[in-house]
Amino acid sequence: MMQACWELLIDTLFYNGKGRIHWLASSRGWIQDLGTGKPPKHLLAKKKINLEGHEIFPGWIDSHVHLYLLGSKKYELDVGFCSSQDELLEILKGEVTPKTSGLEVCGWKGSELSLFLLDQVSSCIPIIVRRVDEHAVWVNTCLLKKANILKKYPTGFLADKAMKHLEPFRPKVSPHEIEAALMEAEIQLLSDGITSVHDMATELLPLKTLITLMQQKKMNLRVSCALYGKEACNAFPKPQVNLFNHHLNIRAKKIFIDGALGSRGAWLSSPYEDSPGHCGTPLSTEKELVSTIRKALQNQFQLIFHVLGDQASIFVLEILNTYFSPKEVRDRRFRFEHLEVCHPKVLPLMKKFGIIASVQPWHIVSDRPWLEKRLGKKRMNTVGIFDKMKKKGIPLCGGSDTPIEPHDPRLVKKFVHFYTVGGAYAEFSEDTKGTLEIGKLADFSVRSKEKTEMTVVGGEVVYAR
Ligand SMILES: [Zn+2]
Repeated sequence: MMQACWELLIDTLFYNGKGRIHWLASSRGWIQDLGTGKPPKHLLAKKKINLEGHEIFPGWIDSHVHLYLLGSKKYELDVGFCSSQDELLEILKGEVTPKTSGLEVCGWKGSELSLFLLDQVSSCIPIIVRRVDEHAVWVNTCLLKKANILKKYPTGFLADKAMKHLEPFRPKVSPHEIEAALMEAEIQLLSDGITSVHDMATELLPLKTLITLMQQKKMNLRVSCALYGKEACNAFPKPQVNLFNHHLNIRAKKIFIDGALGSRGAWLSSPYEDSPGHCGTPLSTEKELVSTIRKALQNQFQLIFHVLGDQASIFVLEILNTYFSPKEVRDRRFRFEHLEVCHPKVLPLMKKFGIIASVQPWHIVSDRPWLEKRLGKKRMNTVGIFDKMKKKGIPLCGGSDTPIEPHDPRLVKKFVHFYTVGGAYAEFSEDTKGTLEIGKLADFSVRSKEKTEMTVVGGEVVYAR
């Protein structure tokens, strides 16, 4: 028998896996070789890692997360567990001490609140209750007075753009708190085998913190940002990609066309079933949008549109069709986020302009209990039409919208291909991510039946159970 007369020095050899791939060799963060059976003898590894018979999967790409919000949840009071307004009232009352200067809680899933209820908690400290979808809040009279908006919002309910009025009265977060939140978010995501995320609506301060963490090599997660807010967009007027060894992409901008269904801010083509005459609220005018799109195309930014209601996507597509050429738009891979309610008539135009459908399957599961109330029975066939999109040849990517929904991709097993090749295409990384192949990034997770045993980013073990 011939003996291999040459040797190849590699950084790390992962061996004893099962499934489609049994071993994988990585060097400098990239896949050097991989295969089934026993690793070839000519591979000389500086480090060897035994996968103990567990299966290797490509690193998941979660195409819709809110990194900072996810991490900051750990430090916030989440009232998502409250089953009634009375329970919420008790909790809020329990939080108020003589030293409390303001109270803000998140995650409220219950019915509409009243000013009367929150005023019972306190008449002299500002109180904010954030709805679980982060698109609406309820506040008390004290805060309405402070912000000088009592006349404009007499019910204490503020959605989407109106929430801006409250900014000056909310506690300022320090860079240190942002850093802690981002690190916390990273730990949670890596432990689910997620190696890349698309961060939706990244504002300047979190982005700067992210960059500092990456400079200090403290962050292993790969992040593609969708810039949000004037400050962030001005600070990054041109796309910057593959920074810090493919850990950071800044090439997208997030645009909100409408709000959320829960707070009836999503823009529908016909009125809400439970609010006659009301179709939701567009957050952008035609003129604004044309100018935003023109600028983005000039600077080669990808645009990521929040379009929850069917009218929101119709609006964007009609503008694209009137003012822009399919070729220039297709090259930028514009994305529609959520598309939870989507009229099938938009699919041909989505295809024409190469729009990616970025969907969050778990939303449909968790919204189901009240969705029919908002939409009415007839319209339920426009909810979650992912199969129709796929059939039409529209590229799909998948995300969780964490922390609004759980981020474990195994919850949406049927859709996990959205989390691999779909996610890679949506961030222009199909040459480096999405599948395990020679020459791609060595990003993967190793899993037993129920659990993520290990997560590897760039050939380094970044999480082990
Ligand atoms: Zn979101």
